[in-house]
Amino acid sequence: IERTLSIIKPNAVVKHNIGAIIQRLEAANFKIVATKMIKLNQEQAEGFYAEHKGKPFFDALIDFMLSAPVVVLVLESESAITAYREIMGATNPVDAARGTLRADYGEAHVTFNGVHGSDSPESAAREIAYFFSDNEVN
Ligand code: ATP
Ligand code: MG
Repeated sequence: IERTLSIIKPNAVVKHNIGAIIQRLEAANFKIVATKMIKLNQEQAEGFYAEHKGKPFFDALIDFMLSAPVVVLVLESESAITAYREIMGATNPVDAARGTLRADYGEAHVTFNGVHGSDSPESAAREIAYFFSDNEVN
């Protein structure tokens, strides 16, 4: 059993797709261990995406993540990290397979791709601890 961090990004929140996305997660047999809605501040967004600091898309990514609230979720399942990345689809919604979350809830631009998912066990541990205290996830 494994855990991963999911974020429903601002564009999906603004378009009233929180419920649809959570329904898809539960239908795909992820257990929702914890969730909260947060309006990120600059420091929180930059810290979360620290590995991308200095890249050409960084400022646009941060502006986007600050543009409206996000919903963060801790998902649990067998091989949750890869299982969730599969239903999420490719980073750029233009390349995402039919029926994936990014194909259905992302815009046709890589910055506005609707959802985030941890990419490794190390990222998942860091990202879960970034948003949730121990007593919220244990
Ligand atoms: P994946 O791990 O599937 O690539 P990710 O969300 O982890 O998805 P990252 O490469 O970590 O993707 O990039 C973080 C976020 O930055 C992306 O989800 C996307 O919103 C944005 N992003 C990534 N690459 C670009 C790019 N070339 N131009 C604009 N925005 C980008
Ligand atoms: Mg990544």
